[in-house]
Amino acid sequence: MTRDKKISELGEFGLISRIAAGVFAPDNVITGIGDDAAVTVTDQGMQLLTSTDMLLEDVHFRRRWHDPYRLGRKSLAVNISDIAAMGAIPRWALLSLAMPSDLPLNFLDDFTRGFLSMAGEHGVTLIGGDTCSSRSGLVISVTVMGEQLPALILRRSGARPGDDVWVTGTLGDAAMGLKLLEDGCVPSPLTGEGQGGGDYLVSRQLDPTPRSAAGLALAGAGLVTAMIDISDGILADFGHIAEMSGVGATLRLNDLPVSVPFRTAVRAFPQFPHHLVLSGGEDYELCFTAAPIHREKITELLKKCSLAGMPVGIVTSSPEVQVLDADGASFLPKKQGFNHFAP
Ligand SMILES: [Mg+2]
Repeated sequence: MTRDKKISELGEFGLISRIAAGVFAPDNVITGIGDDAAVTVTDQGMQLLTSTDMLLEDVHFRRRWHDPYRLGRKSLAVNISDIAAMGAIPRWALLSLAMPSDLPLNFLDDFTRGFLSMAGEHGVTLIGGDTCSSRSGLVISVTVMGEQLPALILRRSGARPGDDVWVTGTLGDAAMGLKLLEDGCVPSPLTGEGQGGGDYLVSRQLDPTPRSAAGLALAGAGLVTAMIDISDGILADFGHIAEMSGVGATLRLNDLPVSVPFRTAVRAFPQFPHHLVLSGGEDYELCFTAAPIHREKITELLKKCSLAGMPVGIVTSSPEVQVLDADGASFLPKKQGFNHFAP
């Protein structure tokens, strides 16, 4: 019966208790949802890291593609990814929702279920947030807090000339998934997920995996000099490391890792879509720098996290980031990563 209800029938407090019902607080949450502020405790000697991200309907997601369960997962995943990029342990999340009042209650229930499933997978507890009604679509704002020992926190600013540039996983899958959705591909129901190549690419767009175990392991090993998560494409995101570290890089086009489903999807293109690999957003892989002497150790460490990773370039002292093709010629990509305020 409740499946036909709208959220307006619940009222704000009904809504909050409905979301809170699925939350179980561990010992590091002294006071969770329900008071004026949450009270949490960090482990001894740890510093607190905080990151926030907004997802706007028709800017970051479309409700016709994004089922509420995977939307809930992604809302948290993109935030956990930022904590992972600092090499920190994700701990707590705040969730603020502005929702059209005619939003079906089952949408909220499925969204919450997805959000809390991602939280559970990464040891994150929902400790509060805000709800209000929206006259212009669904707005999701998530804040994630994590912790780490000061000496282990990885920033964008530590890359040194001569370091390898690494990426985890594969690049361009989420952008290719988005392209398939834009071309009218219908996302498979959750039960059939991950079977075909198209499904894999679409699920990388709709349900990305933050690399928190790898980020944490890399930080703990003390081998990495700078790190960022790839949300806007490796060119744009490594560009941030380059800028903050006062370095540049030479990236090798042919070493950039792409998945088998990506290679299959590429057959429909007149030319290999390098721009999706270099500047496609939302893969949420990690890009980091480390001295070449650590190659073997890093490969092993990533393997233990069930993740592939490879060096794809070298940090240079000259400030530009250039891409070389197989012949060593400079490759000029068509466009940079996604920029919200670009004209
Ligand atoms: Mg980031």
